[in-house]
Parts: sequence; structure tokens; C-alpha cells
Amino acid sequence: MKLGIIGAGQLGQMMALAARPLGIDTAFLDPAAQACAGSVGELFCADYSDPTGLKKLAEFAEVISFEFENVPPATVAQLARSRPVYPPAEALATARDRWAEKTLFQSLAIATAPVAEVNDQQSLVDAVAQIGLPAVLKTRTLGYDGKGQKVLRLVEDIPGTFAELGAVPLILEGFIDFEFELSCIGVRDQQGLCAFYPLIRNDHRQGILHRSQPIDEPRLQALAERAVEAVMQTLNYVGVLAFEFFVRDGQLIGNEIAPRVHNSGHWTIEGSRCSQFENHVRAVMNLPLGNTDTLGPVAMYNVIGKRPEIHALLTIPGLHWHDYGKSERPGRKIAHITVTASNDAQLTDRCTAVEDLLINDL
Ligand code: AMP
Repeated sequence: MKLGIIGAGQLGQMMALAARPLGIDTAFLDPAAQACAGSVGELFCADYSDPTGLKKLAEFAEVISFEFENVPPATVAQLARSRPVYPPAEALATARDRWAEKTLFQSLAIATAPVAEVNDQQSLVDAVAQIGLPAVLKTRTLGYDGKGQKVLRLVEDIPGTFAELGAVPLILEGFIDFEFELSCIGVRDQQGLCAFYPLIRNDHRQGILHRSQPIDEPRLQALAERAVEAVMQTLNYVGVLAFEFFVRDGQLIGNEIAPRVHNSGHWTIEGSRCSQFENHVRAVMNLPLGNTDTLGPVAMYNVIGKRPEIHALLTIPGLHWHDYGKSERPGRKIAHITVTASNDAQLTDRCTAVEDLLINDL
């Protein structure tokens, strides 16, 4: 079997590594010749709109998937003419547009921050009058890791901000004073069967995910699974989907969905019976889903911008180092670390040892 992936970053790399034991070959389309997944599968180096590149990927693959939500819709439409593309184009179109996303959540009775469309400076003023301050102004498309957004705290912050964010379509969201952030990762197969990983608590630093850890919160788990399942069913979804929530007063507030494997699920490689990467591959290739049970205490750290001293890290028992093979650059995700342990106290000790060695460059 052959899987074609649009994008050849670390998510594609880890999908290919999960596909290999299933007997599945993987190839990638990416405009960057140095894209890291090229080390684990064939890389067609071409722009996402390049007809020759798209043709090569379609000729190679039986099924096409993608590793990021900003794939141009025309690329997916072109590929979908000759090959099945999973997750489906409609899911991609919804997830890449924050307004479409919030509208979908509201139609499914999933709580969101108060939200308004902003298309010029005047509609920004109107939106602030409606929602109040503080509020978060975000580009509708192409935002990631906190980029393309600005927190407005004072009326003086408003003038010029529409232009500052590029004079593109925006949304204004009420600022949620959340207690913590969670994600729920679900997977849906081609027969509509769903499975879920445990809720994951996520800590960010400067808008970039720093640490993820699965948690045992049965009430929130049930609420999150209901929301993820409703979204997946509505979008006729196939593959892994991640839903990010804020938690306030014991309630979930839906922030965004990612129609793909997700950074907050990297710990599933060692921490789950079947990882998010393998389950995504299984779903899109029409194979039965794997067991999503957690094997024991586990946490994940992102390595940003600068590598720590690897020899020292690898002396920590239960530690797994995943180097994507990318060069160091401030703010860039270049590796992650998964820490496993046999009990919570041991996990805490091992995580402290990791935190002492991390030298992230944000
Ligand atoms: P996003 O790109 O929407 O995931 O936003 C990046 C990060 O900014 C989130 O993980 C939150 O920490 C923060 N954030 C985004 N939207 C809001 C909001 N409406 N209220 C408070 N914090 C937010």
C-alpha cells in the first residue's frame, strides 16, 4: 500500500515511521528540498500548486493525506479528482478558517468564546463594542503557534490593529480567563467508528506548546468526546482530529480543531498501545483502528530552537528522544522528548530532570 502526504515536516515523518511496520510506503510533496520527512520517504520537491508535483504524488499514492491545515484548497481539489483524500476537503476548509470553525462549534452546541467577524477597522470597533475588552484578534486563516493574533486590552490598542495584522479577514474573540488548556484527540475510520485518547493537558510558552500530559478527568473526557464525535460526524471525517479546549469553571470552551495528527499527541508513540500516527494511517488506509489505551504515566516536552545535551538527557530512565533532523533556529520545533515512568512520583522526578536540561530558544 502507498500513502502520499502533503507536507514533509515532522508530522509527516512520524506518520511514515508508523506506516512502515504496516507495510505502507510513504511519499511527500513539499516545496522545501530539506524538509525533514525526506529522510524516511520519497520527497517530491515542488510547490503545493505545481501540477507536475501533484501528478507525481497522485501517481505514487493510493490514498492522499496531509500534515497541516493550510494546504491550498485547490491542491486538495486537484488530487481528489484521481485519489481519495482523507481527512475530507470539507474538514480542511472548516479547520483552516477560524470563523467557519467557530460557526460549526456553535451549530453543534459546543461552547466558544464570544466571537465576531472583522473585515475592516470599523467592524473591529463594532466587534469590540459587542464583545468588550480584553479580547483576542486573530487572522481567520494561516495562523499557528500564536502567530497572526494580538491581545487587545485597552481601547488605545485598537487603532491601526486591522492593518497591523495584514488587513486580512479576522475574528475577534472574547478573552477567556481559563484555568488550563486541554486537547482531545479522536480518530474516525471509514465505517464511522470512533476512538479517543485520554484528555491531554497542555502548557504553552509564548504561544508554542511546551508540555503535554494525558490526564484522567472522566467528566471532562465525556464532554470532550461528545464534542469531537459531533464534529467528526458532521464533517464525515476520516483520520485523526485534535480539538483544543479552554477549561473554565469546570466547563469546556472550544477553541480550535486541527484536522490532522497533533503535537499534543506525540507522547502516544510510547505512551499508548497504538499511537495517533498509526491510527491516522490505519483510518485513511481503511484498516481497523488500534487500541488507544494509555500504558502508564507519560509526558511530552517540545524541544524548541536549541538542542539540549543529548548524552545527559539519555541517562534519564524512561526517556525517549525524537530528533526531527532539523537545523536549530529560534522558535522552531526541532525535536520532542517523551518521558515514561511506572508511577506518578517517578514521572515527576524524571520530568524535573528533563526541565533542568532543556535550553529552549523561543
Ligand atoms: P490558537 O492559535 O487559537 O490556538 O491560540 C494560541 C494560544 O493563545 C492558545 O493556546 C491560548 O493560550 C491563547 N488564546 C487563544 N485564544 C484565546 C482566548 N480567546 N482567550 C484567552 N487565550 C487565548
